[in-house]
Amino acid sequence: MSLKGKSAVVTGSTSGIGQAIAEAFAAAGCNVMLNGFGDKTAIARLREGMANKNGVRVEYHAADMSRPAEIADLVAKSQAAFGGVDILVNNAGIQFTAPVEKFPAEKWDAIIAINLSATFHAVHAALPQMKARKWGRIINVASTHGLVASAHKVAYVAAKHGIVGLTKVVGIECADTGVTCNAICPGWVLTPLVQAQIEARAKAGGIAVETASRALLAEKQPQLQFTKPEQIAALALFLASDAASNMQGAQLVSDGGWTAQ
Ligand code: NAD
Repeated sequence: MSLKGKSAVVTGSTSGIGQAIAEAFAAAGCNVMLNGFGDKTAIARLREGMANKNGVRVEYHAADMSRPAEIADLVAKSQAAFGGVDILVNNAGIQFTAPVEKFPAEKWDAIIAINLSATFHAVHAALPQMKARKWGRIINVASTHGLVASAHKVAYVAAKHGIVGLTKVVGIECADTGVTCNAICPGWVLTPLVQAQIEARAKAGGIAVETASRALLAEKQPQLQFTKPEQIAALALFLASDAASNMQGAQLVSDGGWTAQ
């Protein structure tokens, strides 16, 4: 499919799922604004590689998604650079696990800010222009944890359920505007975010990382395979396409059977 002539902002696209989505969009001919933390040289290499390989413009904005003013600047600079933002992918996210009574308040605040409030601020900034241009795609990376819960993830599960709710409201409000807003709910995807959880589990149980990885899958994901970043990117591409123009406020699940149980 072609996104030639379109421009996208993908938050948290210096790693994992966001990077895969940015790569898929660039390969479809879309200009991309990258965002996220990381080594400056590595980010420059990523940006140049993506642009040269696909003959599109790829820029980078270092907005910290916990800071509303920086999010507004990310959207404004992207609109200025590309002449408009057609697609907004709200993907940046972090994780922290602990029982609720031991969950540090500052971790709660950070997860709610980055995994939930950042999406509100980005939509708030990008939507007026999308509505004025009568076309737009808002794609929110939620999680199976937007639909069901796991122990020790109080902030993450609350934020992701919030994303699913936000997606429904924005979908309804945009119903007849040419703009759609939908969410993707991945199961376990082997990215640095999940690798850290596997390593913590291996350490706590005194078991090999490989064993901890298999146990993590066995506990939740009947397919016993990690969801691939490219599979989530393919869903994002679909949501950006005209084929998905009738989808509004929906959740697309790709989780190897996790939430079917
Ligand atoms: P990741 O750690 O590989 O990537 C996270 C990205 O977000 C990185 O680019 C990082 O720099 C960026 N980021 C973190 N804090 C930021 C901040 N304050 N400001 C700007 N950028 C920031 O993780 P991932 O697994 O690719 O996760 C991406 C999204 O997918 C998250 O929203 C996550 O909750 C969601 N998700 C992941 C999984 C999974 O199993 N990996 C499953 C479901 C949903």
